[in-house]
Amino acid sequence: HLVPLRRTWVPPARGEELPEIGAACPVQIVLTDDEEHQFELDEGALESVLMQEHVRDLDVVVVSVAGAFRKGKSFLLDFMLRYMYNQKSNLWLGTDEDPLTGFSWRGGCERETTGIQVWSEVFVVDKPDGSKVAVLLVDTQGAFDSQSTIKDCATVFALSTMTSSVQVSLILLISKLMKGFLFTEYGRLAMEEIYRKPFQTLMFLIRDWSYPYEHPYGLEGGKRFLEKRLQVKQNQHEELQNVRKHIHSCFSNISCFLLPHPGLKVATNPWFDGRLKDIDDDFKKELENLVPLLLSPEKLVVKEIGGSKVTCRDLVEYFKAYIKIYQG
Ligand code: GDP
Ligand code: MG
Repeated sequence: HLVPLRRTWVPPARGEELPEIGAACPVQIVLTDDEEHQFELDEGALESVLMQEHVRDLDVVVVSVAGAFRKGKSFLLDFMLRYMYNQKSNLWLGTDEDPLTGFSWRGGCERETTGIQVWSEVFVVDKPDGSKVAVLLVDTQGAFDSQSTIKDCATVFALSTMTSSVQVSLILLISKLMKGFLFTEYGRLAMEEIYRKPFQTLMFLIRDWSYPYEHPYGLEGGKRFLEKRLQVKQNQHEELQNVRKHIHSCFSNISCFLLPHPGLKVATNPWFDGRLKDIDDDFKKELENLVPLLLSPEKLVVKEIGGSKVTCRDLVEYFKAYIKIYQG
């Protein structure tokens, strides 16, 4: 039996109490101010999610989806929510007629906010090894592909990377943002003489992949695609060689997944509300492979900082410490 998500989502105003249990919603924890070019952490909001009694002392798995506006983050996160709510069912993807609900998913191009949102419900999952973990889903949004705001976005991106154990990135490997981030982190590692990789899992998600005959959809095709991208050739540009070197020193586990186009109804119909019957079969098939790769109990990766596992309570403190670094 599928548990329905809340149909309509009204974002809680800043400082407002979270809605009663059962009405989960996205909660903005880091927000930026377009005019002032500042960003801040809403500590109250963060604590209301992570300090809930039944999760605060559990080790935390932080799965973040990062990308520019309208790249399909909310769309993907809503399917991740379906999986988390209906995990025990092999029909977790839902029925043909269920509209998609959860993170503020909708078509159109209304004003977008840069920042980090988390799902208010932290999921408790039993891992096969007998441990209980808390799973936090995170939406990281910025104008990651625009030049003008690169600095603010770099901060939001860095903050999200530092606080997540699994990052699903819709940002291109060779983007200015990614190169800048890797360069800075690599420099920091060298300076502080840290030999442990600071970050855990990074998955590049390539959407609208249209060359399945060249590299097939999914993880295998993605692996070959990424290897090709990261291959070091003799006469290659030094910058690209550095990206390759840096990324392997920064992340323990790097993968890539090639996702097909979801179909024209998804991409262009303004009335599309996420019903499965309007989504291409190839896309649904790959989605059914992708989501469990990230979220099935045996695959969940607990957040570690400096080699130690982090609880929800610890994560609150790390957020506070990290934001201070950037507020300088
Ligand atoms: P967000 O701003 O990154 O959260 O993007 P949304 O999830 O709100 O999606 C923005 C638009 O892209 C919506 O109209 C979706 O229907 C559409 N969309 C979602 N996933 C994909 C995809 O993989 N490919 C294409 N072409 N469109 C998508
Ligand atoms: Mg969104």
